[in-house]
Amino acid sequence: MAYSFDTTYKNLDSSLYSRATPKNIANPETLILNDELCADLGLDTADLNAKILAGQDLLEGPIAQAYAGHQFGSFTLLGDGRAMILGEHVHDGERYDIQLKGSGRTPYSRRGDGSATVSSMLREYLYSYAMQNLHIKTSRSLAVVKTGEAVKRRQTEPGAVLVRVMNSHIRYGTFQYVASQASDELPQFTDYVIDRHYPQINANDRKYLDFFDAVMQSSIEMVVDWLRVGFIHGVMNTDNMSIDGETFDYGPCAFMNYYDEETVFSSIDKQGRYAFGNQRPILRWNLERLAEALQPLCARSALTYDELEGKLDEFEDRFDAQYYAMMRKKLGIDSGGQRELVDEFVDWLRDSKADYTNTFLELETPGSFDDPAYASPEFEQIRDRIAAIGLDEKLMQQANPRYIPRNYLVEEALYQYMETENLSKIKELLTLLQNPYTTKEMGSQFQQPPPREFDTEYTTF
Ligand code: AMP
Ligand code: MG
Ligand code: MG
Repeated sequence: MAYSFDTTYKNLDSSLYSRATPKNIANPETLILNDELCADLGLDTADLNAKILAGQDLLEGPIAQAYAGHQFGSFTLLGDGRAMILGEHVHDGERYDIQLKGSGRTPYSRRGDGSATVSSMLREYLYSYAMQNLHIKTSRSLAVVKTGEAVKRRQTEPGAVLVRVMNSHIRYGTFQYVASQASDELPQFTDYVIDRHYPQINANDRKYLDFFDAVMQSSIEMVVDWLRVGFIHGVMNTDNMSIDGETFDYGPCAFMNYYDEETVFSSIDKQGRYAFGNQRPILRWNLERLAEALQPLCARSALTYDELEGKLDEFEDRFDAQYYAMMRKKLGIDSGGQRELVDEFVDWLRDSKADYTNTFLELETPGSFDDPAYASPEFEQIRDRIAAIGLDEKLMQQANPRYIPRNYLVEEALYQYMETENLSKIKELLTLLQNPYTTKEMGSQFQQPPPREFDTEYTTF
């Protein structure tokens, strides 16, 4: 048997979703299948042929979800325009959305074609795989299946379907959508989400405040994890913010090499709204929009909007607590406090524009990399100060990846596939990123940042 579906979302109000049918794909071809994810889902790879993966052999009727969102600051009604949930797969008491991305048009497609290109789906597969193995809560990719169609973008490219797995695809924007509708579904919908994602919250008259608190916490943990590894999401619109703190929607994302909080790679992010260092204030902004969407719940419970907004006043302190704890681990400091030392270290990073990932490896094992910045007295001084407190290598090894998906290596691998249909470089990267905390060969090509000009010109879509 393939999936065991029990799709609770269909029991919700019909305004929340639409029935959708995957487009017809005559000869789907599986390019990559994620064996580890199959095992985690209790699925047998032998049952997952390309037709099943691409939604050509359905167990039940798929749905496209309705949602809204602030896109670059502007509120819009949206929905899955090129995605469909095949069903909720239940295994070992855990529930997972099995979603197809690029499977055709839906009632929410607007002018879009409902399709996805093979390079962008391979890219999503790679980044989500890397994030999972970097121990960051994320959507996962079960498979990339080629569709055989031609998809028009900047260039015409082969199409593909990605099979995406998440605890759910419910987002801040789903709440914004429900709140924007005339119907009074918000309490029921929120209860559903609490039950599905935050079952530890007791059913008392403070539960909606507890819910907001829990979403804030899981989102803070997610963004702090991004800062830990130098991840730039690229499109933190409220429709791309998971209610369960899962990183998802790998579009124009990238990893930062040379430290600079203003780093932006996305072609559409002209103002740098979603730059590396803006991810924290944008998270807060997004939480403010979520609080607004939850406002109607206040009238329905013993909660005032002031109390809900009051939660947001805790944001900076809670983010700081999480952030400094993370940075201390990266520096190998096994104690509290030390915020000044962390700040000074980040000042040094900013001034020297050293490679973010390698700097922590160099701190751990001096002499690993030959950037002249590491020979500077400032760097040595900081290292001495940390060593005086006691540099805990174990902590560092858990917090500091030895490997990240370097943008130029990802591009090279995708280029190789697009030119020759050869997946060998992509597979090589996947193998490397299976264990990003385990050193293979220190200083190998996989650890090298690109020439600085590469990053200045690099653009993602
Ligand atoms: P994103 O920027 O990826 O979060 O997408 C924003 C919205 O555009 C979502 O509602 C998508 O479903 C929709 N969308 C993106 N690409 C397409 C496409 N090719 N066809 C239809 N809808 C799309
Ligand atoms: Mg999206
Ligand atoms: Mg997207």
